[in-house]
Amino acid sequence: MTTKNTIYDVIIIGAGFAGLSSALNLTKAGKKVLIVEARDRIGGRVWTSTCKDGHTFEYGGTWVGETQDEVLGLIKKYGIQTKPQNDTGSNVQIFHGKKKCFSGKLPNLGIVENLDVKFTHKCLNWLSQTVPVEKPWKSKHAKFLDSITLDTLLSKYISWTSVGKSLTEFDFRSVLTVEPDEVSALYALWFIKACQGFNNIYEAQGDTIVGGSSKLLNCMLEEIKGTGNGEIILNSPVGKVNQNDESVSVIVYHDTSSTTYIGKYCICTIPPNLVPNIEFEPPLPPEQIILRQRMPMGIVIKVISRYSRPFWREKGYSGNSVNDGEIGPVCETYDYCDMENNFYALIGFVTGKDSIQYRRLTSEEEKKKAVHETYRKIFDSDEALNPTEFYEIDWSLEPYSRGGFFSVMGPGTLSKWGENLHKNHDRVHFAGTELATKWAGYMDGAIQSGRVVAQKILDTF
Ligand SMILES: Cc1cc2nc3c(=O)[nH]c(=O)nc-3n(C[C@H](O)[C@H](O)[C@H](O)COP(=O)(O)OP(=O)(O)OC[C@H]3O[C@@H](n4cnc5c(N)ncnc54)[C@H](O)[C@@H]3O)c2cc1C
Repeated sequence: MTTKNTIYDVIIIGAGFAGLSSALNLTKAGKKVLIVEARDRIGGRVWTSTCKDGHTFEYGGTWVGETQDEVLGLIKKYGIQTKPQNDTGSNVQIFHGKKKCFSGKLPNLGIVENLDVKFTHKCLNWLSQTVPVEKPWKSKHAKFLDSITLDTLLSKYISWTSVGKSLTEFDFRSVLTVEPDEVSALYALWFIKACQGFNNIYEAQGDTIVGGSSKLLNCMLEEIKGTGNGEIILNSPVGKVNQNDESVSVIVYHDTSSTTYIGKYCICTIPPNLVPNIEFEPPLPPEQIILRQRMPMGIVIKVISRYSRPFWREKGYSGNSVNDGEIGPVCETYDYCDMENNFYALIGFVTGKDSIQYRRLTSEEEKKKAVHETYRKIFDSDEALNPTEFYEIDWSLEPYSRGGFFSVMGPGTLSKWGENLHKNHDRVHFAGTELATKWAGYMDGAIQSGRVVAQKILDTF
């Protein structure tokens, strides 16, 4: 057992966007910071990897969108380029076996269905306005809205056509990565409020970061180190956090030994669902544990298929599609081409219930077949069956995430336990995208939460 001599002002657990954002703000203010990261890389739920020829692709966080001022601000500051998501060509929607091609955000619908979808979105926006984003549990109808699921809210109280309900549910499923009957209506409305309106959800897939999302993280880390106040250690899973009136000890367990790092404060930025795995001494108040035990991560498997030609574009498709899972496990696809560098690829997401069947496929060959058969049906081409490279990540299997995109809440959680999310445990503070009040769940929200908690600690020095 080793105890390091240095006493840091703040020890930050986790080197995702929240961790690096808090580190950046603290080190720039002259505070001595240590970031302790479990993985052998920074980024957490953001992970830019490379293909065989070195071209980058994203396993995790990919797009940034309008009004995401935190992330866009950093992108601008570091002079990083972004690239718009391709929207030239037909988008595809397949519901109940029926295929529709369309341009824009929504497919052509019948008059009644169109009215229903618009009405549903309006209602959701209006209801979300009744939810205070900082304290959703104080909402006038918090108790009722938190006693029903999003599915019930839509089917019993808002949508009047099955298409209107299905389309809205689909939008939620693709961002929350869980089924609408698993999510509290209050939580869903709070999420809409944090995204500043339902329609903004469509804008979140606006641009990709040239060079990969990790490029932004690398710039942040470079700036942190450049202040001379910041250090980082990788491969260091924190297992225990002790504190007394003056300091916090953060303990990393290795195979046969442990190392203790000492700071005046600690910021824990690991996903809420993983916080109960860390032993705190004195223990975390039960309410803070209970809340986080009720914040499961969404379910997402991301697949990346590289092709020798952008056959879908050649057939007039944009590459962007949604389906209800009847035709195969990949319920959402996006074009991921970098035409200038002859890189042609499709990204797909297997989310929520659709992952159950997919996980039953045991061999890579079976999985590849299931994914690319889906693409063949969407884009009407046998070329879909022959990618040159295929990459897959099941975020539920990642021990330091256990799912994605982010933690969600089922009924009865936000109204009863929600206020504990932002509470500090004396010298230990918490951050992470789930704690954001704007674009919660996104990279933008992670950056905001890190900045806010850093300021909270700076105010106490
Ligand atoms: C497949 C996928 C696609 C996504 N797409 C987008 C997108 O297009 N746009 C967007 O804005 N967002 C997207 N997101 C969400 C976005 O990636 C997250 O909101 C954001 O990265 C969360 O950052 P964070 O710092 O809060 O948490 P994390 O990134 O989870 O960081 C927490 C860190 O803590 C570390 N950690 C965990 N346990 C320990 C421990 N015991 N000791 C030490 N360290 C520990 C983890 O390794 C991790 O590095 C996506 C996420 C996924 C999974």
